[in-house]
Amino acid sequence: MTIDLDAAAKERGIRYFLISFTDLFGVQRAKLVPASAIGGMARAGAAFAGFATWLDMTLADPDVFAVPDPESLIQLPWKPEVGWLAADPWMNGKPVEHAPRNVLKRQIAAAAEAGHEMKTGVECEFFLISPDGSEISDAADRQIKPCYDQQALMRRYDTIAEICDAMQGLGWQPYQNDHEDANGQFEMNWQFDTALRTADRHAFFKYMTRSIAERRGLRATFMPKPFLELTGNGCHAHVSLWSDEQNLFEDAAGELGLSALAYQFLGGVMHSADALPALLNPTVNSYKRINSAPTISGASWSPSSVTWSGNNRTHLIRIPEPGRFEIRLADGAANPYLLQAAILAAGLDGIANARDPGKRSDINMYTEGHTLAVGKKLPLNLLDALRALEGSAVLRDRLGGLVPSYLKLKREEWNAYARHLSVWERESTLDC
Ligand SMILES: [Mg+2]
Repeated sequence: MTIDLDAAAKERGIRYFLISFTDLFGVQRAKLVPASAIGGMARAGAAFAGFATWLDMTLADPDVFAVPDPESLIQLPWKPEVGWLAADPWMNGKPVEHAPRNVLKRQIAAAAEAGHEMKTGVECEFFLISPDGSEISDAADRQIKPCYDQQALMRRYDTIAEICDAMQGLGWQPYQNDHEDANGQFEMNWQFDTALRTADRHAFFKYMTRSIAERRGLRATFMPKPFLELTGNGCHAHVSLWSDEQNLFEDAAGELGLSALAYQFLGGVMHSADALPALLNPTVNSYKRINSAPTISGASWSPSSVTWSGNNRTHLIRIPEPGRFEIRLADGAANPYLLQAAILAAGLDGIANARDPGKRSDINMYTEGHTLAVGKKLPLNLLDALRALEGSAVLRDRLGGLVPSYLKLKREEWNAYARHLSVWERESTLDC
């Protein structure tokens, strides 16, 4: 049943709608539309100049129309008179092929052709820092092993509880909140759902967490590695494929309780794993999290090689229990839609080609990784990652128009970074 936004505004007391789309760099762009105008906007979309966003468009291109998805409606828990709507960018009467939410919807449609529906959960880690971004916001949060620190968690009770209460009210079924492995770092978990719903919630969670933190004089950051000596912000994704209400990844007779289909999907992720970081680890800073040296807490918690395991957190892919696996690659900068789209594309390729994930590894990758003779490594920087994506026939074919536009904009970003003269560079080269 489609929600009538006009009627919803009257029934729920919504005065304004935030028609929002996520661009290629994960930035949410929006127009604030009075409820009196939502009827027309719901049909035609809100107009944007694509060039002004990260959408690989020129000033000569016609308007982009962001057509809201009424099913995505969320009343801002901290300001219920505003209704947030995820929107799909259209141009020239058709969906913009490389716009992230459209890319994900195409992958979902491809999965549906085979009768499959991907369900996912994401674990969003973030720091609460000072408003100027220079340090964590709680000076007393100084334990060397701060994970699950009750005292530091409860000093941020008001903020964490407000966000959790909001998720509760929205029906997301949140179930736990904790202090994570870095000083100043937290994680909040809610129930997994379909890929599109999880992506919309992931996008909204970032907006909501930043907003509630700001209102409390704090700043929330999902930056992959804001402090070099501390554990970074990951965004682990838990994946399963379903048909009707049946989990197709579950098979009590299979290795670790996973079905043959699950291992084919896993084989696809392993096959494309070195090309995935361009999308799952999309910033220059991302590569200071993967490939990281151990942090002061003892570990980086992030992978650097392409391996899979059982319930062992030192590998890129972990199988924590029957029926799903966890991809530990993505970080807090991952675009919520491209994260899901890339995983699904890689997994569908695995099924289409019955890919074999290879042998499971049960070693501790942090201490014994060097003993592993085979196994691909992850790219060491964003440029290597972009080259790996360019070289991936699987992702190029399945993600279509996304890849050339994404590579073009990200190469420009890399070049902007490369033109930057760092303090380290001067100090280590002045006397060369
Ligand atoms: Mg975590």
